[in-house]
Amino acid sequence: MNIGFIGLGDMGAPMAERVVKAGFPVFTTFHRRREPADALAALGARVMSTPEEVARASDAVITILPADAELHETVFGPHGLAAGFSPGKILIDMTTATAAAVIEAEKAMSTLGGRVLDAPVSGGTTAAAQGTLTIMVGGDAALLEECRPVLAAMGTRIIHVGPLGQGKVVKMINQVLAATHLLAMGEAFALGVRCGADPATLYSVIKESSGYSKMLDLRLQGFLLAGSFQPGFKLDLMKKDVNLALDSGRAQGVPLLLTSAVGQLFAAASAAGNGSADFSAAAHFVAEMAGVDLSRAGASKRATGSGGT
Ligand code: NAD
Repeated sequence: MNIGFIGLGDMGAPMAERVVKAGFPVFTTFHRRREPADALAALGARVMSTPEEVARASDAVITILPADAELHETVFGPHGLAAGFSPGKILIDMTTATAAAVIEAEKAMSTLGGRVLDAPVSGGTTAAAQGTLTIMVGGDAALLEECRPVLAAMGTRIIHVGPLGQGKVVKMINQVLAATHLLAMGEAFALGVRCGADPATLYSVIKESSGYSKMLDLRLQGFLLAGSFQPGFKLDLMKKDVNLALDSGRAQGVPLLLTSAVGQLFAAASAAGNGSADFSAAAHFVAEMAGVDLSRAGASKRATGSGGT
């Protein structure tokens, strides 16, 4: 299977590298920066000028782009994928986007004889590099089986979640929870530190208690307590994901009180200049609203071993 790969960002670059290393012939292109495409070419991929050329060379094209607008441009724009699609070709869109965007792409591709899978991912850049992503697949189950070998180069949990668009829905719900847990952690740890608790002690106890969230493992040490916010997962991408959920709640008439507050906090953290930082900077922003710098709290506890900040 010849594989096209478009979107060599924080996630796409390591994912594409795994596909190349799994032995698939890979065809890619670039958007603004050519370097990630050149790095993939050094491993054996071929760099084409446009998505249209990528589509012509490929049996299946994988896209992992920021959001709906970029997916639309890549499929329908000048020299987009649609211009190079022909019967039998497959689009596997792994972007965290709306169900409507992937369904729109499928409508166009199916008139050209193409087929589409919806396959967003979870696990972040570490799992992308290790090939251990969770991949939530919406679309035809038989098409998933055809594509499973290439998906298996990137993920270890490949789960069929329903018809086309349901992958996007499941991913959106995951993001609501991840964003909410992250900010709850920032707020609760700020309170704990104000009350004299040691963040490392809080972590070791809560990890085994009912307040546990995987976000404690993913974003406390190494990010919040280290005061280091290199993405990772950019804050503006999480802001986009929370807004996808808020738009969906409005369309479905579902009240989202907690998610609304989370959306506002991500908007504020972004407006304060953190949009390109890792999304954990939003929890740092929330803690700072309480006058607590969790990185200094962690460091001063480690240095003095005493309470308070
Ligand atoms: P990123 O911003 O690092 O990368 C996006 C890539 O898309 C860039 O290489 C950019 O050049 C390319 N691009 C943008 N517009 C384009 C266009 N019109 N045509 C071609 N290429 C274009 O983002 P990322 O972190 O890799 O995330 C990609 C997607 O995966 C997003 O939907 C994000 O929400 C999702 N996601 C990210 C993570 C994470 O931890 N970073 C985890 C799970 C899911």
